[in-house]
Amino acid sequence: MGDFIYEKIPQFTAETIKKKRPRLMAVVNDNCTGCEACIEFCPVLCIDHPPPEQYTGVVIPPVRIRWHECIGCQICARVCEGLAWNAIDMISIDEFEQKFGIKVGDGLSPPEEAEEHSEAAAPRG
Ligand code: SF4
Ligand code: SF4
Repeated sequence: MGDFIYEKIPQFTAETIKKKRPRLMAVVNDNCTGCEACIEFCPVLCIDHPPPEQYTGVVIPPVRIRWHECIGCQICARVCEGLAWNAIDMISIDEFEQKFGIKVGDGLSPPEEAEEHSEAAAPRG
């Protein structure tokens, strides 16, 4: 994949508040081919492709996890391991926060944040 690396996450907000803080978070690693096998298995449909302006150097971009929606269920990681390229790592929420400088809260989103999130996380397709 050359110098393209997509273990990155969308740059939405520096902080997110969930109804329940997950124990784990899914992070896409460099193995992802963008095959989409995982997408339909996600129970909250938080896997999609990044918009074209967010990637370069590949025709089919890897998928991204919309981390502010991911509930850490691990299904995508198992699907990718079984059907594709083992391209999703499940990491602890503490490690995720530390690595990406994000705080994942526990509670209901206030309306202004909910609006910001829904804008940033426009449904795919
Ligand atoms: S199944 Fe794996 S390789 Fe295919 S898009 Fe999902 S994360 Fe990428
Ligand atoms: S861990 Fe579960 S909720 Fe998170 S992206 Fe994977 S399938 Fe979706």
